[in-house]
Amino acid sequence: MDEGRADARLVREARFGPGRARLMDAPAELHPEVLAALERVGIERLYSHQAQALHAATEGPTIVTTGTASGKSLCFNLPTLHILCEQARARALYLYPTKALAQDQARALNAFGLTKQVRPAIYDGDTPRAARADIRRKANVVLTNPDMLHVGILPNHAAWTELFSNLAVVVIDEAHVYRGVFGSHVAGVLRRLRRIAALYGTNPIFLLTSATIANPVELAERLTGLKDVRLIDADGSPTPGRRIAIWNPPLTDEALGTRRSALAEAAELLARLVREGARAICFMKSRKGVELLSRLVKQELDTAGHPQLAELIAPYRAGYTPQQRRELEGRLTRGELRAVITTDALELGIDIGELDAAVVVTFPGTVASLRQMWGRAGRRGRGLAVYVAGEDALDQFFCRHPDEFLDRPVEAAILDHESPLIFAAHLLCAAHEGPLDRADSEFFGPRMQAHAELLVTAGRLRARVARGGRGDGDDDGTGGRETYVPRHPGSYPAAEVSLRSASPDSFAILDVSTGELLGQTEAARAHSTVHDGAIYLHQGRSYEVRDLDLRHRRALVAPFDGDWYTQPKRETSTAIERLLDRRTTLGVTLSFGEVSVTETVLAYQRRRLSDHAQIDLVALDLPETSFSTQALWLELDPEPTDEPAETMVPLQSLLGALHATEHAQIAVLPLIAMCDRWDIGGLSTNLHPQTGHPTIFIYDGHPGGIGITRTAFARFEELCEDALRLIAGCRCTDGCPSCVQSPKCGNLNEPLSKAGARLLLERMLAAAAAAPL
Ligand SMILES: [Zn+2]
Ligand SMILES: [Zn+2]
Repeated sequence: MDEGRADARLVREARFGPGRARLMDAPAELHPEVLAALERVGIERLYSHQAQALHAATEGPTIVTTGTASGKSLCFNLPTLHILCEQARARALYLYPTKALAQDQARALNAFGLTKQVRPAIYDGDTPRAARADIRRKANVVLTNPDMLHVGILPNHAAWTELFSNLAVVVIDEAHVYRGVFGSHVAGVLRRLRRIAALYGTNPIFLLTSATIANPVELAERLTGLKDVRLIDADGSPTPGRRIAIWNPPLTDEALGTRRSALAEAAELLARLVREGARAICFMKSRKGVELLSRLVKQELDTAGHPQLAELIAPYRAGYTPQQRRELEGRLTRGELRAVITTDALELGIDIGELDAAVVVTFPGTVASLRQMWGRAGRRGRGLAVYVAGEDALDQFFCRHPDEFLDRPVEAAILDHESPLIFAAHLLCAAHEGPLDRADSEFFGPRMQAHAELLVTAGRLRARVARGGRGDGDDDGTGGRETYVPRHPGSYPAAEVSLRSASPDSFAILDVSTGELLGQTEAARAHSTVHDGAIYLHQGRSYEVRDLDLRHRRALVAPFDGDWYTQPKRETSTAIERLLDRRTTLGVTLSFGEVSVTETVLAYQRRRLSDHAQIDLVALDLPETSFSTQALWLELDPEPTDEPAETMVPLQSLLGALHATEHAQIAVLPLIAMCDRWDIGGLSTNLHPQTGHPTIFIYDGHPGGIGITRTAFARFEELCEDALRLIAGCRCTDGCPSCVQSPKCGNLNEPLSKAGARLLLERMLAAAAAAPL
């Protein structure tokens, strides 16, 4: 660290003192069997947040957001175990985002030794057919994932009578994972779950946990559709003392803004930590990066004359069986391994307690997940947490504002259960699970009927008047009660809906080397992500697209090991379909509404990974595609004639200024709403035919939209402030990947004017300062 301080690579260092545990006695009202079980697993007293969660759970839905390794699972396990011991027939449903986490939790439940009262079972895609009927009848804690609930359990609720007619508790662990497209779908699945439970006469309590996010209560309410969710966020567990370091690789070319690679810096740092006897974990985004870094660290140790230490470094890959994972985790906690290097995709699945050091290489996408990774550092009461910055805009933004990075409130998890396509998909599934009627707006909200009518128009539902009614006052005065039933009762709509994709219209991605189905991509994005020759990243692994088969709607890919990546060149236009909201701010007219985005992918560029140099441009012949989504757009006054000439953006660079402003705004949008810049699209034009003005559009990249741009519309001023700081703080001369260049620009970053964008944003923010409040 000292040398880093000397040459300014260490941009910020901070120390946090250790915090003492706040302990409370387990309440005496807890069922005696549960109290005995706590003793068996060696828990004498509870952390204060665990006791508070137990109390809150008796009152209503609750979300717990305490830190990494703070004993969060006990917060929902205690109330659940209590209920299961009190009521022999009661059932609980646990939802996990990954199979591995469900397995860890089943193990934790079994460890309580309440074999008579608690019978957990995992029900997912891997559960043998022969075991399924038994689980449905006997298990009283069913651990599954949202996908299985959606496609396997809810549509077959009649086979799950035992579960639904006794459902007392629903646990949703790691709820922050359910955001964006996935979260919007899970919100639909959970509304269907509450409706089916009600059909069987139960009204379970919902207990959620989440990593620290800006809006835990809002997330819980949007996910479940419930109101008055209680928040437990005062962490009573002991926190270790922690030293935090933000590390920026040195510049190699100031004008171009290039820096030494974060990988090389991280390799040196890790090798040093290992030599000093530390146990460390290192997080990286891509699997390829993980393999490369493992190799570099081993080399570093070998050449420094420590081949025996090089043996103690292991990459931690996806695709391990739970047994292999546990073996690796065990070797690490016992000190038989010194360092594991892993992708952030595995961050959730790791059960290693705490280590001496946690090193995060390049920004993992959200401050929330960076803090979670850092939370791994703290063995024996102290730890070192390091962030090695990459060259992307957000990485460098944080290096220039490190203080704010440490104090900045974490991002909000955004989802929109009423995103039109997603909402329609779940209403259709619900109608197959049982006729929809007006009373179901209790679960689906006041706009349910309007959406159901659209499904009638689309030929998927049929309105039917149920004669005689239920006599409970909801008939329409003619003795009938209107319901919606499937037009094609024999179909199975849940099977057509993937929870990972905003639109049912999708392309399959097949690995030709194994025949395995890797996943799906939204049809609206297929041309730009899986065109012929594209390098496609899936779970941290690279694939090359061999053939995009438009007729069969599939992309054939093969594992890829080359040293280039691809960037599509696109022609995009937007048409405003519906204005939903408008305000004047910062001297511009800001609008939010629905737009249709039309796009043609014309070609793609191949670029070298090492230095981003262009290799070639390959033409493509693809038809035009279009989709509807949500967007915000800002219109500028084209002729600010009353301003002094030197503050005016010269007309010839106006487009470059708009374009660079758009890129900077998109780059910092993830600071407000948890999303990836790949989830957002943009378009800038000197003159939009509909607005008649220079206009910047920022649109949700998913058909229908999932609420990202709605949040950006509401917090537009912050977006502009962050964008200006991103640009103003960068030392490059004409724009670089750390400020206004975008790795996904459809115009291949042409034209861009960094100076123009700076001027434009400064003028907007000055207008705000001048305006009366
Ligand atoms: Zn720059
Ligand atoms: Zn662009």
